[in-house]
Amino acid sequence: MVEDEASIREMLQFNLELEGHKVEVYSNGKSAFDDASEFQKYDLVILDVMLPGVSGLTICEEIRKYSNVPVLFLSAKGTTQDKIAGLKKGGNDYLSKPFDLEELLLRIKVLTEGITQTASDIESLNIGNKHVDFATFEVIDHSSNEKHVLSKKEIDLLKLFHQKEGKVVSRDEILDKVWGKDQFPTSRTIDNYILNFRKLFESDPKQPKFFHSIRSVGYKFTNSDKL
Ligand code: CA
Repeated sequence: MVEDEASIREMLQFNLELEGHKVEVYSNGKSAFDDASEFQKYDLVILDVMLPGVSGLTICEEIRKYSNVPVLFLSAKGTTQDKIAGLKKGGNDYLSKPFDLEELLLRIKVLTEGITQTASDIESLNIGNKHVDFATFEVIDHSSNEKHVLSKKEIDLLKLFHQKEGKVVSRDEILDKVWGKDQFPTSRTIDNYILNFRKLFESDPKQPKFFHSIRSVGYKFTNSDKL
C-alpha cells in the first residue's frame, strides 16, 4: 500500500490484516517508485495518486514496466477524467476517497482472486495415477515412475482447472487468466492443450474422466479419482 495519509494507511492496514492479508506500506512516492520493479512479488498494489515526491500515476507507469500485478488506485481525485488517467497508466481499478471500506475490500477480493493467489497455495495435485508437482512442473506416473515435464502455460491451466474443479470454465476465462490480455491464442490452441492433457492423464482419451469439453462453452475438470 502506497499512502501518505497516516490515518487512512493505519485504518486500511488494520482492516486488511484482519482479512488475513500481509501488508507492506510506503508513506511516500519516491521510495515506492524506487522499489516498483519488485512489486510483482505482491498480489495487489493499493496506490494513492497525490503523494509527496512522485505521483501515484508515475509509480503505476513504472510498475507496468516490470509486471502485471493488479493496481487499485485510491484517490481523493475522483472525477471521471482522474479515473481514466489512472486506468490509462495501467491501473486495474480506481476508487475515490472518501470510500466505503466494505466496497474497497470487495474490490480487493475481486482483484486478488485471480489464479496466482489461490494457486500459490497449491503445491501438488493427483490426477488418476499421476502426480503433478507445481513447483517442478513434473508429472510422475505412480505405477511406472515415468516422468513428464509440463510447460508454464500447462501448469497455469491445470491450476485454473483445479481451482474451479467441477465447474465449467469458459474459453474466455482461460484466455484471460492463463494467456493474459496481451496475447491472443485461438480457441484451437486451448483445444490442443486439452488434447495433450487427455493423452497424458486419461486412460482412454476418447472417454475422458477428468478433462471434459462442454460444447460451445468451455471445459470442465473433475477429479473424483483423487488418490
Ligand atoms: Ca495522498
